[in-house]
Amino acid sequence: YNNCEADLMINKDKVWTWDEIQPDRTDRWIVAIDGKAYDVTDWASTHPGGPLVLQHHRGRDATDAVSAFHRPNARKMMGKYCIGRMEPNPVPPSTATLEYRKLAAAVEAAGLYKTSYAFYAGTLAWCALLLGAAWWLAGAGYVIPGALAVALFWQQVAFVGHDAGHHAIAHASRRVDEVLGLGVNAAVGIGLSWWNNTHNTHHCVVNSADCDPDIQFMPLVANSPLYFKSLFSKYHMDEMTFDAAARRLISIQHFTFLPLLCIARYGLYLQAFLHLLHGKPVYTRAGRWGELGVQLGF
Ligand SMILES: [Zn+2]
Repeated sequence: YNNCEADLMINKDKVWTWDEIQPDRTDRWIVAIDGKAYDVTDWASTHPGGPLVLQHHRGRDATDAVSAFHRPNARKMMGKYCIGRMEPNPVPPSTATLEYRKLAAAVEAAGLYKTSYAFYAGTLAWCALLLGAAWWLAGAGYVIPGALAVALFWQQVAFVGHDAGHHAIAHASRRVDEVLGLGVNAAVGIGLSWWNNTHNTHHCVVNSADCDPDIQFMPLVANSPLYFKSLFSKYHMDEMTFDAAARRLISIQHFTFLPLLCIARYGLYLQAFLHLLHGKPVYTRAGRWGELGVQLGF
């Protein structure tokens, strides 16, 4: 059905039970937000944060995740996916959730979500200075200090790219953030849509062994004993097998970790290509081929 029909057909007074919205009871992706039920199945593939974060919240209360990741105007757009009300949640919010809500309100009240453009102007000036210094130092034969300056430059660029990727710079215009993000993509080779997909998932399920892609490095590195049994990655939809080879590699990870970091970057470039070539979600107006062009250009 399309959304207009859904609006007409669905009885928004229906009260859903928690049982009814569980993934083993329905194929639809239904999440609870602020006491209402939302069917996000048809929205998942175009969700700017990627489909996985929605999948992780199927059958669950997503109220805090929604308020953490969205501007108020996104809430207005959600109305058309509302399919009724939720029965009261029998599980009271945990202490951590209550503490989180307090912290979120304090951050908001302190105005920390307002972008400081002076800060970004300063950062850009600092970047230009670092690059200029690198240029001059290398030209004058001071290769190592020049390398240090250029490394600091790229690190600063990566921070700006991170914020642009979160749409946290030009809040009013997603397009401005997109152009900035693609510019950083062209400069550092981190695919914007790939990053968007993994990074939003990461923030939504931080340090969850089976869900957070940013800590899943089996069989090379294990950062939790949970990986000592084969664990299914809900991000990669594949098993992270703990076999004899993994056991051997993990047993020497304290020696291999830093050398691996020296080449890990190439893994990120590869991931960006695989993301685009395997038909995973693309968020920018540049589209799949545009982003492939940017990545190839890098
Ligand atoms: Zn982030």
